[in-house]
Amino acid sequence: MRVRVPLGSRSVVGIALAVEPAPPERTLRPISTILDDAPLLDAHQLALGRWLAQYYHAPLGEALRLFLPPEARKQALSTQVRRSALALTESGKALLRDLQANPDLPALKRAPAQRAALQAFAEGPQLRQALLARGHQSAILKTLLTRGWLEACDAPGTINGGSGSALTLNPAQSEAVTAITAALNRFQPFLLQGITGSGKTEVYLRAMEAALAQGGQILMLVPEIGLTPQTAARLRARLPVPVHSLHSGLAAGRRNEGWEAGRHGQPVVLLGTRSTLFAPLPGLSLIIVDEEHDDSYKQQEGVRYSARDVAIKRAALQGCPVVLGSATPSLESLENARRGRYQRLRLRERAGEARPPALAFVDLRRHGLEDGFAAPTLEALAHTLDRGAQALVFLNRRGYAPALRCHACGWLADCDRCDARMTVHRDPARLRCHHCERSQTIPHNCPHCGERSPMPVGQGTQKAETVLQRTFPQAPLLRLDRDVVRSAARLQEALAAIAETPGALLLGTQMLAKGHHFPRVELVVVVDGDSGLFSADFRAPERLAQLLIQVAGRAGREQAPGKVLIQTHDPEHPLLQAIVQEGYEAFAEGALAEREALGLPPFAPLVLLRAEAQRWPEVETFLQDAKAALLEAPGAKAQQTLGPVRAPMARRSGLYRGQLLLQGTTRAELHRNLASALPVIDTLPSARRVRWHCDVDPSDTY
Ligand code: ADP
Ligand code: ZN
Ligand code: ZN
Repeated sequence: MRVRVPLGSRSVVGIALAVEPAPPERTLRPISTILDDAPLLDAHQLALGRWLAQYYHAPLGEALRLFLPPEARKQALSTQVRRSALALTESGKALLRDLQANPDLPALKRAPAQRAALQAFAEGPQLRQALLARGHQSAILKTLLTRGWLEACDAPGTINGGSGSALTLNPAQSEAVTAITAALNRFQPFLLQGITGSGKTEVYLRAMEAALAQGGQILMLVPEIGLTPQTAARLRARLPVPVHSLHSGLAAGRRNEGWEAGRHGQPVVLLGTRSTLFAPLPGLSLIIVDEEHDDSYKQQEGVRYSARDVAIKRAALQGCPVVLGSATPSLESLENARRGRYQRLRLRERAGEARPPALAFVDLRRHGLEDGFAAPTLEALAHTLDRGAQALVFLNRRGYAPALRCHACGWLADCDRCDARMTVHRDPARLRCHHCERSQTIPHNCPHCGERSPMPVGQGTQKAETVLQRTFPQAPLLRLDRDVVRSAARLQEALAAIAETPGALLLGTQMLAKGHHFPRVELVVVVDGDSGLFSADFRAPERLAQLLIQVAGRAGREQAPGKVLIQTHDPEHPLLQAIVQEGYEAFAEGALAEREALGLPPFAPLVLLRAEAQRWPEVETFLQDAKAALLEAPGAKAQQTLGPVRAPMARRSGLYRGQLLLQGTTRAELHRNLASALPVIDTLPSARRVRWHCDVDPSDTY
């Protein structure tokens, strides 16, 4: 339970984990208040919290905070988790029955407001919020509560369905469903590797139905809040239990409701982004991690956990199957499948009638670029739109142009707080840094040589929008990126608006690449196929391959065959060749061989110690001291410590950034070493002059 305790002169909230007699040599101060009526964490959650703290080398308190209900996490003095709905008690039900049988009953005759409020429960439990919105007063509800006719209960959730599916599973889907349902009631990880449109969601649904038939609880993770409404609707239409979707875009009250919905073992489905993983589900019987390769499963602050990996641990602790699904699995999961730790399930063909799209290059060395588009690309677009089909143009760069350059002296607009270029934006016209959000007006004259006006270089989605609008004035155009779409609700509206429009153009960043279903899209254009080919990060090729395959997967999802055009200056690049000629799996095999040769994950564990400060020498001194501490720890021999080096983005938001890279032969040894060195590092005098953290299994080395 949460407690309020005095700490020095302050009063803080903490979690009481155990009750033990006070050690005689110390004088302990008493707890001021106990904040909860009942324990907030169950035994499984506590065990998972301890594991998180150990594995990610995070303070236990920070790890356990992840498990607190959203409302309790605010350290405010909300004394208890409020149950958000009301229901009739037995005597309330009896009274309502009497009232309905005999409207002239004397009871409540002179209290019409109470009577009306009671009538509102004729159809079952009601949300407090909904009652208030319908004009019932909170004082009246309180009276009904004190008179014993109403009681607080958990939110009823939304149930629409349980209607079953008319689809007949194809053999590959059946095989997958059979394998998963055979493993209900024990721990078993599955890798469901199915190309885009192969019907993975149908497999999840059948597995869920089977788990629910046994009275179980289900947790499904999706990478992005934009994906929850679409998926929630699909689940609700099918499953006979409440489906709660949880994400950071919800008001705290609503989120809390979903979070609490399974606390007492009720059959529910919780659907949400990574933090949903920590909700109380004592009867958990199936976990699904959709698009398991996605970056957003990795938390980039506080406890830097990977929701995919923690999902595996949670399934192990609670003894249930966990299904990782993707068309482009992470190299980690592929390797785990190869070693037999995960059982691999394959869907090699698109479900129903749809055929996989054809991928082709547009060689930019042979075809000049006019405002970012080559002639064959524009022809293909025209051809598609003329037929009334839709086209999707993918450009992973928001803003108008990625740089501003003076053509007289070569000056480039840099951010003076980051090691990065300023991005040119229109509407409003500003220079903006995408790393620290600094912005400034666009200079009329070059600040360096004073010549002419500096010009935008390259193109972002805003410029592509202008160009496409000019070239295809008839086509309705929808641009989707973080500058236009700021919420899941807005994204849903925008997508719904465009879904049925013939001859429409969709233009956007990776927001478009993830999981959405666009039945009318027949052509996908990748404007800049070269981006990502030359990144320093060891995961960059994997990312590019996943992105290209995922974007391509948006084409031809139904009857019409899809086509994908990739504009590039380097069509012979081995990476692009592997992806287009041989597909993701062949690419992944090559990439895994490379990782193995270099001793990189998943073949050797990796930990990054990052530090930043106002001045570089402080970063360097700290990292050197930290390295010395690491080398002194027992087991240091089994580990390589590389650095200190500057981070690939050496300065960000005005801070210099550096890192140490730790590569171990075995995870156990690396962890033992860290566990003994980190407390030493923590107390280094040089640690006080920097901000630093330890990132276990980093998702990038930036
Ligand atoms: P994925 O999640 O693998 O990308 P979906 O589950 O979204 O694929 O399925 C793609 C499309 O195929 C959907 O429109 C779905 O209704 C349809 N579909 C799935 N399974 C079948 C099946 N067995 N027969 C016919 N159509 C199917
Ligand atoms: Zn100049
Ligand atoms: Zn900046």
